[in-house]
Amino acid sequence: MKRLKQILSRIDGKGYKAYKDIQGEYRFPRFQLMIDYVQGDPFAAPSRIRVRMPQSEAKYPASWYETPRRKQALEDWIARVWAEKTGRYSFRAKGTGKSGLIGVDRPGQEILPRTAAVVNDQFVEVRVTIGLPAQGRRVLGRKAEEMLCDYLPRLVDEATPADSIDRDGVEERMKLVDNQGAIRRFLSERGWIAFVANGSVLPRESGISDRPLRGKNVVQFQAPKSMEVSVDVPHGDPIRGMAIQDGITLIIGGGYHGKSTLLNALERGVYDHIAGDGREYVITIDDAVKVRAEDGRRVEKVNISPFINNLPFGRDTVRFSTEDASGSTSQATNIMESLEMGASCLLIDEDTSATNFMIRDGRMQRLVAKGKEPITPFIDKVRQLYEERETSSVLVLGGSGDYFDVADTVIMMDEYLPYEVTQEAKEVAQSQSNDRTQEGGEHFGDVTARVLSGKSFDARKGKKEKVDAKGLHSIQFGTSTVDLSGVEQLVDVSQTRAIAEIMRLIGKKAGGGKTLRQLIEEVYQEIEGKGLDVVSPFRGQHPGDLALPRQQEVAAAVNRLRTLRVD
Ligand code: ADP
Ligand code: MG
Repeated sequence: MKRLKQILSRIDGKGYKAYKDIQGEYRFPRFQLMIDYVQGDPFAAPSRIRVRMPQSEAKYPASWYETPRRKQALEDWIARVWAEKTGRYSFRAKGTGKSGLIGVDRPGQEILPRTAAVVNDQFVEVRVTIGLPAQGRRVLGRKAEEMLCDYLPRLVDEATPADSIDRDGVEERMKLVDNQGAIRRFLSERGWIAFVANGSVLPRESGISDRPLRGKNVVQFQAPKSMEVSVDVPHGDPIRGMAIQDGITLIIGGGYHGKSTLLNALERGVYDHIAGDGREYVITIDDAVKVRAEDGRRVEKVNISPFINNLPFGRDTVRFSTEDASGSTSQATNIMESLEMGASCLLIDEDTSATNFMIRDGRMQRLVAKGKEPITPFIDKVRQLYEERETSSVLVLGGSGDYFDVADTVIMMDEYLPYEVTQEAKEVAQSQSNDRTQEGGEHFGDVTARVLSGKSFDARKGKKEKVDAKGLHSIQFGTSTVDLSGVEQLVDVSQTRAIAEIMRLIGKKAGGGKTLRQLIEEVYQEIEGKGLDVVSPFRGQHPGDLALPRQQEVAAAVNRLRTLRVD
């Protein structure tokens, strides 16, 4: 610390570049400070530092990080404490550019593996970004000293050791994630799709907020008796709620009665949520994928022939490519790409589907002969998908009773409460005979794994490599922009940043005859072994603003890269 003070006093008033001299490691009474990267000027991306407190000071009980789930939840907790404290009363230095800024990557409603904090037997480490104070482009050495040598140690004291981070809160968090894990195991042991606990609050505050809706008009979830199960959890009483089994589940009901809200909660249930979110016990199997229509997207040699055939001009649908997909071809593509990655459940909402992809009724079949219609509607494929490939579907469909014939379970939403109406739906289906003809053929058809060409990924922009997230739904990859607005289960911009980095790694591995799925799995094996830090260009130093995406979202991004080439 003394050495840091000396350097700061020496460079006080000099040009900003002089700050580079403070790069290095310093010993403070209770922690170690690593200044990994010093920004080039006051307006540039902020500097990156790490503080590392040994467990002899932090004193975390080993039980807080003894399982991967607990460790991940604890690291998330620490990132939250830091993000909150730095956001609330940040060090304010008057000065130019980012002077005085202190920040830690802030988690949202989900508990994700992230790189902002690390806990192990030896230490607790937090990755922080700071703006080194400047007046004009001159070093404000005194201010920097105040920031790094007074303010920072106080922050470390308040936001790191076990005694100052709300022990009870952490203990509660541990119980929560243990219970969430138990429900996930419950589902996977049975091969089921999802669980929604009684009392859950599904609606969100607004279309742009992920916080729970509050107030007296909120209707808490209550399982229909016929679908209610009780799950034993390690902490507290068994949790009761609605289980969605594998197969084909239909969510019907009047407009504005909460169908999409339920489906959205299921989409997000692939992640664990924090206490108070309202969805903390809404759990969906990890690899469920929301698929929607996404016209305008690019497609590179995807086998969409299970759904689309006989396109005008004899266009190939076994290796289908386009720069500008239609609603139905994009939805078919999104499904086939999800299956390529092994999705075991599809989540589909009428609000974001192409009508002609979902249904084709008897009258239309009569007027437009099968030979003139390239699309085989999803209704004729959904059972094959389940019976031959064990891929379930949960469908929101308020507008067509044709699906009653193919559904295993029908849930009706009525004033935000679910009722099971499978029996009634089957009776309607029997009494009102349907004059549709099955168009799905004998089998679902093939899901074709694609081999990526090494030429697909050029991360260069000018002479340098440049990959980054431009917000939650956009990635800049070299000179191309990847549009992820149709990828609805991406929840955190830190995931988007991680995807950008993972794509860079995939680009380095591609070309050896490996399929997209193999390439992604290889990167995830590395992450499994060494932690998410491995995907960062700052690995070993400060990879502090990444969160783990699912393999499905990585594939989605690669699939939307406009330079992607399949051999
Ligand atoms: P649908 O898909 O059936 O047309 P939505 O799911 O879009 O209906 O819900 C319509 C509105 O009702 C939304 O504004 C949503 O926030 C609200 N809503 C949904 N579920 C609940 C609930 N359980 N309690 C209160 N409001 C809800
Ligand atoms: Mg809806």
